[in-house]
Amino acid sequence: MRFDILTLFPEMMRSVLESSIIGRAQKKGLLEIRYIQIRDFAYNKHRQVDDYPYGGGAGMVMQAEPIFLAYESVVKDLKKKPFTIYMSPQGKTFRQSTAKRLSKKEHIVILCGHYEGVDQRVLDEIVDAEISIGDFVLTGGEIAAMAIVDATARLLPGVLKSEEAFSEESHFEGLLEYPQYTRPEVWHGMRVPEILLSGHHKNICSWKRKMSIENTFQKRRGMLRSANLTEDERLFADSLKNEKN
Ligand code: SAM
Repeated sequence: MRFDILTLFPEMMRSVLESSIIGRAQKKGLLEIRYIQIRDFAYNKHRQVDDYPYGGGAGMVMQAEPIFLAYESVVKDLKKKPFTIYMSPQGKTFRQSTAKRLSKKEHIVILCGHYEGVDQRVLDEIVDAEISIGDFVLTGGEIAAMAIVDATARLLPGVLKSEEAFSEESHFEGLLEYPQYTRPEVWHGMRVPEILLSGHHKNICSWKRKMSIENTFQKRRGMLRSANLTEDERLFADSLKNEKN
């Protein structure tokens, strides 16, 4: 899979995305991330990429032309137009299901805005989807884009050691994950649940599933409504509600 990121701050992104698991995935050739410096496509004396907004208002707006030329430099020799995302607080909220969908794409372009945003005309011309990482406003799209690349790339085959690493995780099936423990068995007087030491795989699996439902009930009750539960699990979730009342 390939990402091309149009940004004014490639170094900030490179240092994060070349670390740890996503960095290793690139070294293994499972993933390619390219950074396109939008400023390289500003052909004026001061390499300026922003200007005052028409109609007045606070701050500066990123101009259409350097962004368009940066985008063109990516797509000019391609037969198929890559899926193009603009990071925006006005976009659809990014979820695990979005990451799953994006991980099936071969090539994604991400545009990171800055200042007060981007000239609408270039968005209308190149963007397929606006994506937000939450209802708050960041100074730029870079942190949001890194979250999307990370969450998407870790779903690619071979990036994590096994599919189990994410198929039991929070949000994968509409539930939060069960609590996790590691050595030592006793820490600050608290013991690891006995069942996890039992070696009984089937019982451990059903404990994990039950704890996952309980965890979701306690932290994000609304998620249970659409979670994929068996009839028995649904009864268990209902019993938690009754316990509470
Ligand atoms: N004036 C814009 C508005 O009110 O919609 C906000 C501009 S924001 C200060 C600058 C850039 O940060 C945006 O162009 C976008 O790329 C990015 N950004 C800010 N908040 C974001 C969020 N919640 N999710 C994704 N990108 C965000």
